[in-house]
Amino acid sequence: MTALPSAAFPDAFDVARVRRDFPILDQAIHGRPLVYLDNAATAQKPRAVLEAMDHYYRESNANVHRGVHTLSERATALYEGGRDRARAFLNARAREEIIFVRGTTEAINLVAQSYARPRLKPGDEILITHLEHHSNTVPWQMVCEQTGARLKVVPITPDGALDLEAFERLLGPRTRIFAVAHVSNALGTVNPIAELTARARAAGAMVLIDGAQGVPHCAVDVQALDCDFYAFSAHKLYGPTGIGVLYGRREVLEAMPPWQGGGDMIRTVRFEGSTWNDLPYKFEAGTPAIAEAVGLGAALDYVDRIGLDAIARHEAALLSYALERLREIDGLRFIGSAPQRASVVSFVVEGVHPHDLGTILDHAGVAIRAGHHCAMPVMDFYGVPATARASLACYNTTADIDALVAALQGARDLFGGRG
Ligand code: PMP
Repeated sequence: MTALPSAAFPDAFDVARVRRDFPILDQAIHGRPLVYLDNAATAQKPRAVLEAMDHYYRESNANVHRGVHTLSERATALYEGGRDRARAFLNARAREEIIFVRGTTEAINLVAQSYARPRLKPGDEILITHLEHHSNTVPWQMVCEQTGARLKVVPITPDGALDLEAFERLLGPRTRIFAVAHVSNALGTVNPIAELTARARAAGAMVLIDGAQGVPHCAVDVQALDCDFYAFSAHKLYGPTGIGVLYGRREVLEAMPPWQGGGDMIRTVRFEGSTWNDLPYKFEAGTPAIAEAVGLGAALDYVDRIGLDAIARHEAALLSYALERLREIDGLRFIGSAPQRASVVSFVVEGVHPHDLGTILDHAGVAIRAGHHCAMPVMDFYGVPATARASLACYNTTADIDALVAALQGARDLFGGRG
């Protein structure tokens, strides 16, 4: 997880074998072998996930929780099996604490509307950080408008780490919620979430951790962390799009009203009023993403089989290698260099707009992301409209980094060469 300059590749990690699990990697783009370095946007899916979902649709597809027939029972068992896998992955106490949502964005909106909106009053404060993805900013702005609460922001230091002294200053008796990214998607900064959570809870605030970029690179234990909410999306963790997890502390979830109404989330419905189902179904209105829950379970099994620690060590070594090699590019400036980093390198190249870089690299078969990465305040902080971002996953290799560097050299040459 940490990009130590001396990080070595773990001996036992067979990246060639890992790559064979991901059929999409075996193709050419514009006549060049695909080099996929846009993993922070979404990761590719291993055969185990593709096959689990295909298998589900071919042999077990039915709606869940309602049918008495065999397929429905099978589909329900598979869907709930995905929940059990997610519970174990986060080490939550109970499966009732695992709410399936569309992704991190929906998880945060659920907490904002169901937890925060009914409770917050003018004078209350929500504390976020300058590193947040828009999905951990805008839902809080909306709830501030709805309730009269105020949004406060922990600043960052020039290298892109949180300013911890400012955090201490901003955390006060009015702070009702502290919402923080585990890992920044724009800079790769790993936040000290255990310490931050302990401090915020001691100050009486509820803590939500946006784990979208955390779970692909760091093992998470929500009981050890003692956070109130932890959110992640399956698709950044080698699983399908359309599903994610909101972990919530049981007593907190029990006290929250449902967010959306519809089938499955009710116990009784009368025109005079309705009563709610138990957790976790109270928060899962309508037909859920069943095949996706199966895919998520398969992705978690896959990650377990390879080992999150081995993945993290491989990626840390690769990040060190990337940082070293990228220094060779004339005019390249890193955006963000926090001491604790995970799998993301953001940069600009003098004289070449990041979007042009993205297009030129695509022609060399190299997929990176160029833009504001849904973190416009981070771009404003560094005074750039956009950055180029390369982000790593378990299947990336030093050859991928070499291809990136060669393509960047090519882009530099195209845009006027050195100097
Ligand atoms: N938070 C972070 C840190 C992210 O990187 C992302 C996705 N880029 C999100 C939240 C939102 O995730 P999703 O789009 O899957 O809801």
